[in-house]
Amino acid sequence: MTFADVLVPVPIMGSFTYRVPAEMSDTLSVGHRVIVPFGRKKFYTGIVTGLSNIGPEDYEVKDIAFQLDSRPVVRHPQLKFWQWVADYYLCTPGEVMRAAMPAGLKVESETFIMPNPDYEEREDERLNQRELAVMELLLSTDKKMPLDVIAKKTGFANIVSVANSLLAKEAVMISENLVERYRSRKETYVRLAIPKGDSDALHKVFDSVKSGGKQEKALLALIELSGFMRQGGELNEVTRTELIERAAVTTTVVAAMAKKGIVEIYTKEVNRFSYSGLVSGKLPVLTDAQGAALDAVHKSWLEHDVTLLHGVTSSGKTELYIHLIDYVIRNGRQALYLVPEIALTTQLTGRLQRVFGDKVVIYHSKFSDNERVDLWKKLLESSEPCVVIGARSSVFLPFASLGLVIVDEEHESAYKQQDPAPRYNARDAAMVLASMHGAKTLLGSATPSIETYYKATTGRFGLVELTERFEGMKLPEMRVIDMSDARKKGLVSGTFAFETERLVNESLKRGEQSILFINRRGYAPIARCRLCGYVPKCNNCDVSLTYHRHVDKLVCHYCATPYAVPDVCPACQEPGIEVLGYGTERVEEEVESLFGNATIARMDLDTTRSKDSYENIIDSFSKGKSQILVGTQMVTKGLDFDRVSTVGVVNADSVINFPDFRSAERAFNMIEQVAGRAGRRNDNGIVAIQTYNPSHPVLSFLLQHDYKGFYQHELAERRQYNYPPFVRVIYIYLKHRDQAAVSTMSFEYAARLRELLGNRVSGPDEPYVARVQSMYIRRIMLKIENNASITKVKKLLNDVRIEMTNRKLLSGAVLYYDVDPM
Ligand code: ADP
Ligand code: ZN
Repeated sequence: MTFADVLVPVPIMGSFTYRVPAEMSDTLSVGHRVIVPFGRKKFYTGIVTGLSNIGPEDYEVKDIAFQLDSRPVVRHPQLKFWQWVADYYLCTPGEVMRAAMPAGLKVESETFIMPNPDYEEREDERLNQRELAVMELLLSTDKKMPLDVIAKKTGFANIVSVANSLLAKEAVMISENLVERYRSRKETYVRLAIPKGDSDALHKVFDSVKSGGKQEKALLALIELSGFMRQGGELNEVTRTELIERAAVTTTVVAAMAKKGIVEIYTKEVNRFSYSGLVSGKLPVLTDAQGAALDAVHKSWLEHDVTLLHGVTSSGKTELYIHLIDYVIRNGRQALYLVPEIALTTQLTGRLQRVFGDKVVIYHSKFSDNERVDLWKKLLESSEPCVVIGARSSVFLPFASLGLVIVDEEHESAYKQQDPAPRYNARDAAMVLASMHGAKTLLGSATPSIETYYKATTGRFGLVELTERFEGMKLPEMRVIDMSDARKKGLVSGTFAFETERLVNESLKRGEQSILFINRRGYAPIARCRLCGYVPKCNNCDVSLTYHRHVDKLVCHYCATPYAVPDVCPACQEPGIEVLGYGTERVEEEVESLFGNATIARMDLDTTRSKDSYENIIDSFSKGKSQILVGTQMVTKGLDFDRVSTVGVVNADSVINFPDFRSAERAFNMIEQVAGRAGRRNDNGIVAIQTYNPSHPVLSFLLQHDYKGFYQHELAERRQYNYPPFVRVIYIYLKHRDQAAVSTMSFEYAARLRELLGNRVSGPDEPYVARVQSMYIRRIMLKIENNASITKVKKLLNDVRIEMTNRKLLSGAVLYYDVDPM
């Protein structure tokens, strides 16, 4: 008899053992998806993580209900990697699985069943009352239905057993079939209806269309795109979209030509990720400095698995990556290229596709589930060399053989997942993944995180530097604008100092562009009663509300609840509510009134909700269709524009004054990064940093673009106050609906931890936002010495959790950890 360990997507620590029914014993292996009964009422899709001949003795083992696919859906070493993520980030492997797989590959409690169309009731196997009721229900809707809905509609308590017996009698089927869950994509192509190179036929064709007309235009475009006149070689396939774009005609024109028999239109199922644009296959020619850096990276990898490329903005880090990727692909292996922000994939994709063509694969959360399943399958079925460009979740893809991991902008906090678990940092996880594949990792940044730079300068990582911008462009000039001084002198209008306004104007006059960065979305971050000072807050969260003008609502940025703007102040009953401060919407409005002739674009969470919106905004700004780009941190990272000369940091204080040990680091990175968008192709770059706090130490380093000076300064602070990189931080969060309860619990919890861990424990305290979605939050901080055994600490944490739970001290509370918080 065989037993299988099955990983189920639930937040429970243990794994679950099931009996493998005889009919599966030949086909089932590690990595297969199965459906298993779970608890009293549910079925889950799980993944087999191990097989053994010895079953557990202390509890009754259930049978696996169903094997879903004929092949495993994960590859080595994915399961091992999931386990590492769970262990390191203190969550369950089930939670990791949930995050790792596209929804189309998992089924949760909503397992669907549907009637088997071939079913005939047999004499010796009559359906009982309850089974009949379920069948009737299913047949009445003629649709597949999730078990929990059936349970509700029939009122049957143990619907699972009914479903099981129906399954056994083959009256119903579980509708869980990968193949039917996603749809393939078709593409329409056009080709000439005559043989390649037949010039007589071609003359006839030309005679049949009007000279100078639309059909002729389409014909010429098709000849060019398909390479019809080229000596030798095959014809290129030409998509209809490409053709009508190139010829600037409509589909009707093409249809008319097909009707005449000039062209043929045909469709083909294509992989969603095929690329049909131009591929030069040429690598960028590196400058001497870049070439030397490339050699240095290769050399560094001889000694270190991880190397940091510290290169100033616009030094050509991307060009270097392209060379490294090429090297790996030519060696028949795969590369993972991580970027912190979906917006960045847009520009990169084009740059990489021109070199690597359809070996470029893109993956991020704006993809539909169908697309994700497609991609997963593609990687699962082929071990072809390729490069995957992706946001953080792409570390979970089923790579066959990684040879290289690039983590661009490695300092970015966007690599850290906040909610829900697993709260992993994709940069750190990627390094582990790389080592499981025997691959090398390159971290790239102009402003490396303090932790990374520390490791790179103390021998843990290799270090390679690029200190010059491409073509010797200067880094932009930084100007700190003292806003209180400017205000005193009357040199401010709205939120802009006259000087910032002047700089933007000068750029406009020279035909150049500007980027204005403001760290808040919405119109105004605060509403307040001007008469009594009352500030409306979210009912569920402990935050003030942001006014959004386009919907004319106050919105909570923590739970997204919208509220009508009150006509009168709820406190004093007077019409005194006004909005204060600036978000992107309001800056955009002001920019419109200041620079009426310019075209203005805005990029923030609200303008980029749909899949192609990033692409459209970035594309039109790149092409010069808009002159001023207003945006949140999305505009600060890694984008490469030719014509930006002015960058305005509208409110540097909101970046600098965040209450957290990383605030100085974050401020330095953000401002240096957004500054890096300026002057990439000319020497006119100027950055205006508006602040009420001009003597803040961070600013003096920024003025000089002095990363190393900043690093030394910050490192000294971290050493003095005992923060990373000198210790590791783990936050323990407790959440509860009841404020008093969470308060007591967190005190007792911290006290118990202190008994065991002494002064490594601090708190509990209230985080910056102490209530979110009606849950009160407390936080306990652990600082663990770098040389301490993290495994021991984690075991101890788990023991304490179990002990406190058993003592009924955590009832009603949610407990979770944040390891290496950002
Ligand atoms: P980084 O990633 O360091 O910010 P990029 O790789 O984006 O820098 O380079 C900045 C700009 O300079 C890009 O537009 C890039 O195409 C150009 N560039 C850099 N190096 C080269 C090179 N060797 N040949 C041609 N163009 C280059
Ligand atoms: Zn809220």
